[in-house]
Amino acid sequence: MHFPIDLIKDDISARKNSFSREYTYYLFAALSQDNGIKPFFNDQEVQSAAIEELFNRYAGKGGDITKGGICSVCGEEKEKLYGNFSLLKCYNLDKRGMITGGFHKSQGVHNFPVCRECIADVTYGLVFAKENLSFWMSGENYFLLPKVRNVEIKDMLIDILSKRSKRKKIPTLKEVELQSITADESELLEEIAELTKGKDTITLSLIFYEEKNAAWRIIAEINEVLPSRIKAIYAVKEEIDRYSLLFLSQKERENSRYFFDLRKLKAFAGHDGKQSRKIFLDWVDAVFRSGKIDRKNLITKLVKTILNQMKENSDYYAFTVRDAWAVFLFLIKLKAIDAIAGGKSMKLASTNPYGTFIKENPDFFTQPEQVVSFLTGCYVSAVIYVQRQSKNKAPFFKKVHGLKLDKRRLQELYPEARNKLHQYDKFGLVAKTLDPLLAEAWVKVGNSWDINDTEATFAFTVGLALSGNIVNPDKSEQEEDK
Ligand SMILES: [Zn+2]
Repeated sequence: MHFPIDLIKDDISARKNSFSREYTYYLFAALSQDNGIKPFFNDQEVQSAAIEELFNRYAGKGGDITKGGICSVCGEEKEKLYGNFSLLKCYNLDKRGMITGGFHKSQGVHNFPVCRECIADVTYGLVFAKENLSFWMSGENYFLLPKVRNVEIKDMLIDILSKRSKRKKIPTLKEVELQSITADESELLEEIAELTKGKDTITLSLIFYEEKNAAWRIIAEINEVLPSRIKAIYAVKEEIDRYSLLFLSQKERENSRYFFDLRKLKAFAGHDGKQSRKIFLDWVDAVFRSGKIDRKNLITKLVKTILNQMKENSDYYAFTVRDAWAVFLFLIKLKAIDAIAGGKSMKLASTNPYGTFIKENPDFFTQPEQVVSFLTGCYVSAVIYVQRQSKNKAPFFKKVHGLKLDKRRLQELYPEARNKLHQYDKFGLVAKTLDPLLAEAWVKVGNSWDINDTEATFAFTVGLALSGNIVNPDKSEQEEDK
């Protein structure tokens, strides 16, 4: 028989080019016969040969046992066992120390003998997990593995999985408007939580892995994740997404929505490679497993990123501060940050919007020190607003951006800012709101100062960036002009 190889090749490449890049395709050899197509893989002999070929790969250099023994996976006595089953590459026979029996690779089978049935099951399981249960979270791949005992739920889960689109892609920034917490459009977390109606009848494992040059490695495991926790995570996300004080862009204001997902956490974990990755995954662990994140370390990370942003490009600092505040709120609402013990909770006499903001965030404003820092930020924001209105630039911003603030600096800023407002004849902007509140907070601070510069800086920048959303200066100026 003569095969017109070149013709076939051209035909295949032409068809290949006509497919969209998003699709995967398979090539099967087949025979055209009696007005029908007979694929080779239907042939019994071809199938047997393919199966033998597959299993021979697992004998190979790792050796095999043909006299019978116990399978490492199922624990049953089996006739034939294979020594080189390393589909996930978490076991290897390349290093001498890994091999028992006098360093002979052929004796590797004594380390990890696996039977045919288990090889088939594990292989199928992995292929299934890769196709249906593999997801993406801020640059990390993970398997979401449900542990289900209830048969009914198991069937429902299989049904969901079979109906889902198999097509997966990494979302681009354009698709940022996703309702998911991981920003992966094929995310399954919420669906599973809904499936059990938030009841903890199943548990989930998130297995973060890395695949490089056919080597497969687990980076982190988050086990025993409960559907009720996932529901709580989504509820908090929804609350934060709808929190109007966080809307900074025109689009966010129009849609009445901010989009929070775990990429925001990643942005503050730093860029130190392995170390930052570990921090991010530790935070994710605390989120999913109701763990705790150290408040001081978290705020240090938030402030470091904010100050870097201010140095690099101060035009966007407000967005970074807003995201940092959203991260703090997200974690505090999930009780993933330790509350400060023994904080002197502060009652403010005034009830203007700044006071309300402080009252609404008792887990952050645990001491008058944070209140002073925050209100000073708001105060400086008023000066910047006034300067921009009159000169189209804000020299006062240059004084404070990128600064770590301590008590002395904050004490100096208060009169400086007040004098500036008097200078522009705009003290009325703060006369009844910020000014008396800040004075009151300073009295409460008295001689003590119990927070570190990082926490003071964080509170200050939150005031500086969000003040315009707490009280719109345009509106309060109109009021004042009346
Ligand atoms: Zn077995």
